[in-house]
Amino acid sequence: NFEWHNPTKLVVKADGGPEIADYILKDGHKSVLLVYGQQAIKKIGLYDNIVTQLSKNKIQIFDLSGIRPNPEIKKVIEGINICRNNNIDCVLAVGGGSVYDSCKAIIVGAKFPADVPSSKIWECFEGTRQVDSALPLYGVLTISATGSEMNCGGVVQDDEQKKKWGFGSVNCYPRVSIIDPKIQAELPWFQQTNGFVDAIMHLLEFITNAEEPEIVETTYALDISLIKSIIKCGNILQYDQHNYSARANFCWAATCALNNLSSVAIPGCGAVHFLQHAMGAVNPKISHGAGLGVAFPAFVKVNAQRGLKLKTYSRIAQDVFGRQGWQGLVEGFQEMLRRWGHPTSLDELFERKMEQGDRDELLRVYMLKPAGSFKQGTDIEEFAREVYKNM
Ligand SMILES: [Zn+2]
Repeated sequence: NFEWHNPTKLVVKADGGPEIADYILKDGHKSVLLVYGQQAIKKIGLYDNIVTQLSKNKIQIFDLSGIRPNPEIKKVIEGINICRNNNIDCVLAVGGGSVYDSCKAIIVGAKFPADVPSSKIWECFEGTRQVDSALPLYGVLTISATGSEMNCGGVVQDDEQKKKWGFGSVNCYPRVSIIDPKIQAELPWFQQTNGFVDAIMHLLEFITNAEEPEIVETTYALDISLIKSIIKCGNILQYDQHNYSARANFCWAATCALNNLSSVAIPGCGAVHFLQHAMGAVNPKISHGAGLGVAFPAFVKVNAQRGLKLKTYSRIAQDVFGRQGWQGLVEGFQEMLRRWGHPTSLDELFERKMEQGDRDELLRVYMLKPAGSFKQGTDIEEFAREVYKNM
């Protein structure tokens, strides 16, 4: 028994980015907060094209730039203040998952009652403040990875407290998201592979969490197909950056990996993402996708050594990599990472020897909010310690 709902309109179109202005106009908005990262969207001309189109539609533009990967709550608060001080109608994300995620928090904070300070937005991440409403969100996606363009969740961090936490609300689905696969061909390869791995990991988090894949056969079959499609497209793009159909197919698969479709009838998700979030919280320079690639094999190994999920791991190993057993899953996965030039150990990821103290710190940060699905009765701290030890 399940419900499926996704209200986001998704447009995949070469050179389609500036058309977002038409959707904003059609919905009757007169002002927008345009949120983006560094200078990348200016270099490729996307910023100018969007601004021109917004101006043509007589939409007043406010700017918030400098959203970094592993986005920080301070920027979110800055965005909320701009919205509140100027009575802005809607928010436009132009960028990747970090920009989208930050915007989801901005649209919530922008609707706080006048007597609630903007900084209280962090309480939504702590789970102590309810999300009642939000400004409309629009977006142009420049890197496919997180699925944020078509879901209602976001992850932001507080550097001082070393907390990288998520929140979600039905109020936070983007109204319209436009993906232009063409511009993603210009991204550095490492950034692209981070996207491939992140999307694959969203799918693996779900299907490895299903104790018996047979019960969710349709979801399982869908997810396996998406994983295989991402690997296939990734392999093509490695040597043919401008292959549009491989690029567009990857984009669509990455969106489907986390738009509620891939998780139908699967309760909760694994813990690999949350174990990875601790890495980003400890060092914001660590890429999400790269960290996931390092964490997943260790996670599988620790489960398997406890005799957990063996049947599920075997089936995925066979269906995706044509290999046997949980070892086959780990080997196939790591071979894929190496082919794409991705790190496979914590030392490679942090580019230095990771001592016991470093692993203890990751564990400490993870235990601030030890999220994920575990078998009842699991000593989560002990489990997580084992995983970090095996990375
Ligand atoms: Zn992710």
